[in-house]
Amino acid sequence: MSKYLVGVDIGGQTTKMAICTKSGELIEKFSIVTDIFDEGIRIIPNAAKAIEAKLEELSLAIKDIQGVGVGIPGPVDEQGVVPVGVNIGWSKPMPVKSILSEILRVPVIVANDANIAVLGEMWLGAAKGTKNAVMYTLGTGVGGAVIVNGRIVNGANGAAGEIGHIVVMPEGGAICGCGKTGCLETFASAKGIVRMTKEKLKENAPQTALNNFEEIRAKDVFDCARDGDEFALMIVDMVGYYLGLSAANMAVTIDPEKFIFGGGVAYAGDILLDAIRMHYAKYAFDTTKNTSFVFARLGNDAGVIGGAYLASGLGIRR
Ligand code: ZN
Repeated sequence: MSKYLVGVDIGGQTTKMAICTKSGELIEKFSIVTDIFDEGIRIIPNAAKAIEAKLEELSLAIKDIQGVGVGIPGPVDEQGVVPVGVNIGWSKPMPVKSILSEILRVPVIVANDANIAVLGEMWLGAAKGTKNAVMYTLGTGVGGAVIVNGRIVNGANGAAGEIGHIVVMPEGGAICGCGKTGCLETFASAKGIVRMTKEKLKENAPQTALNNFEEIRAKDVFDCARDGDEFALMIVDMVGYYLGLSAANMAVTIDPEKFIFGGGVAYAGDILLDAIRMHYAKYAFDTTKNTSFVFARLGNDAGVIGGAYLASGLGIRR
């Protein structure tokens, strides 16, 4: 009986891997540099080699492995082909599933990396024990994923969970990377927070410690707010407003048990979560008022753990 699952999380710099038991015990974590040269042609074979070497080291055989779940930074089609992987050098379609399963001779399942991260949180992290959850990843951009009845929702066009592109300012908003204006990402990503801060500094010429920074980062805004800086507190309140508003609107479509917040901006901590909760309470439909707001727990390991969960064959809706 194959007892083990392998998770692979391919990023622009590092390919992370993990071997877990089917009951969710992390046996071993390991990683290699992602070789993006020559159009990233060695990325998958290198991962296969690293997995084979690790299995040998652990005195395991390939027959002990039930499957491999792979997360990719980009869209993935139903055949496990990645049409384009901008951050990893793939300009042509890459048949990840067929390449990896031919080398390793085990079933392989491939998904978007934001989706496997939320599966990891559901299996062993912040959403453990829940079947309905929404995850916000607040980083350079705003990513997200939606789990309904224990499964990732992809939608008709693979766009389900693109939370960052919920419009929260219908008119007069800043331009988003997607081409629209007023998207959540233009307010609640690290970049968006800095943009909004600079805009308000120019508009209001306020007394604030942020005037002393040459290059403002999102972290500086939260640090100043924690020190009681009124202008910084106002910015944090605005970030909370846009996130809380979007969550209240998601609650009446998904009705999750939990909203999970991960990514670099989430390190802002309770000052951010409290602001989100306050605005959420204002806009939430009555029966969704008690939904909980929590931080992601697995950090960088969410992807590989979610990949392993995906390999158990339970994680994806087709
Ligand atoms: Zn957008």
